[in-house]
Parts: sequence; structure tokens; C-alpha cells
Amino acid sequence: MSVSLSTESPVATKVFPSPNHGERKDGQRPTMVILHYTGMPDEGEALQWLCNPVSQVSAHYFVFGDGRVLHLVPEARRAWHAGVSSWDGEADVNSCSIGIEIANPGHPGGLPPYPDAQIESVIALTKDIVTRWRIPATRVLGHSDVAPGRKVDPGELFPWKRLHEAGIGHWVPPASVSDGRFFSRGDQGMPIEALQAMLVMYGYGLRINGVFDEDTEKVVSAFQRHFRPERVDGVADASTITTLRDLIAKRPSSSTTA
Ligand SMILES: [Zn+2]
Repeated sequence: MSVSLSTESPVATKVFPSPNHGERKDGQRPTMVILHYTGMPDEGEALQWLCNPVSQVSAHYFVFGDGRVLHLVPEARRAWHAGVSSWDGEADVNSCSIGIEIANPGHPGGLPPYPDAQIESVIALTKDIVTRWRIPATRVLGHSDVAPGRKVDPGELFPWKRLHEAGIGHWVPPASVSDGRFFSRGDQGMPIEALQAMLVMYGYGLRINGVFDEDTEKVVSAFQRHFRPERVDGVADASTITTLRDLIAKRPSSSTTA
């Protein structure tokens, strides 16, 4: 297949086209960036998989461990990276996002830390994308944020704080972990409803039913993975709730939803 594709980001050194893409629905433009890890031990194989028509998966960009960046899918097209997902009431995340796959073996490979050079490239690439498309800080997210029931990437070792310090993404210092009152699986009532409402207000896809069910536990875990990674256990302790409250309070007004 001959595809004429030029590198849209100066951070990407080369085009390496994937055939796995389609039209963005309703002529949408990218309003989110979703970060992933590949979750495969070999980065060359991960790249091939994203470019194999059989896989039906892709991303717009691929970042190697050494920091090299390849451009796989044109930004105007809908790449297939998020799958069944939801954020801020939007269920077709692929249609409104740009996906970046970061080569890392992930949880199956013992969750090795992300090399410095790779994170520098992720920062430069994301900064370029959010600037060109005017994407709000609150809409730079992990796959686990938009698919908390199915996905755990880019994982709790992903340096969201460092990205924030580089001007990317929304983040607040997590409240320190201490003992005290907490909510967990099986709890019911008004406090659970309030917790669920806060998670939904921030953007997570969750049914507000006043029951700390399996879905709630998974969303709390996803929240912790991104915003309070010191302890990822799906238990809504005081630190988790305070961090969530701070995050909502310090949300840039431009991205506030009704
Ligand atoms: Zn992913």
C-alpha cells in the first residue's frame, strides 16, 4: 500500500505507516492525548504488531526506549488504541484523541522504569501535540483512566509528576498516605455516592449508584495509578479522596464541565 504521509510532529524522526486507522466520527478533531505502554518484551515486535492489519490496533506515535519517535498514523485519522473507553461522557475516545504507544514491557514484564531519554521524547512529543491542537491539560490521560475496567497502562511508574513539571497534564501533589477512615468494596450510602460523583465530575466513566462495587474499585485504582501512585489498592482512603478533591478544585477553568 502506498501512503503519502509526512511527519506532522518535528519530534518524530520518521514515518512508519500503519494501515490500522479510519475516519474520526462526526468530523471530530483531537481533543485528548492518551498515553499507553506496549506491554510487550520486544519493542520491535510491538511496533510490527501496531502495523499489522491482523492486529486491528494502532497508535499515532510510537516511542522507543532510546527516545526515537516514529509516526504511524496521520493525526487527522482515527487510530485504534483506546478500545472500549470513556471520558467526560464521551464513549468514542479514539475519535477524539491522539494515541501514543510507549515501548515498555509493562506489568507482564515486571514494570521496568521508563528510561530518561524515552520520557524526554514523550514530553517533547506531547507538548508539540497539545500546543498544535490546543488540548487542555486535563485531557492528557493514561489508557487506564479511560478504560479502568480493562487497562492498567501506562502504569503507576509512569512519571506524571515530571510531565506536569514540564507543563503537560493536570496534576496536584498527592495527599500523604495515612491511616484513618476509608471506603472499600461493599460499602454503601451517601459517602460512596459522593465519591462516585467526584470521580465522574473529574471525567471517569462510572455509574453513580451509592455502592462501592467492582467498577468503583477499578476506577479508584485507575485514579491512584495516575494521581496517588504510592499505594494502588482500590481503597478510597483519606489521601485518595483529598487528592481527588484537590484535583477538582485546581482544575483549570477552561476545561471545567457543567
Ligand atoms: Zn493501552
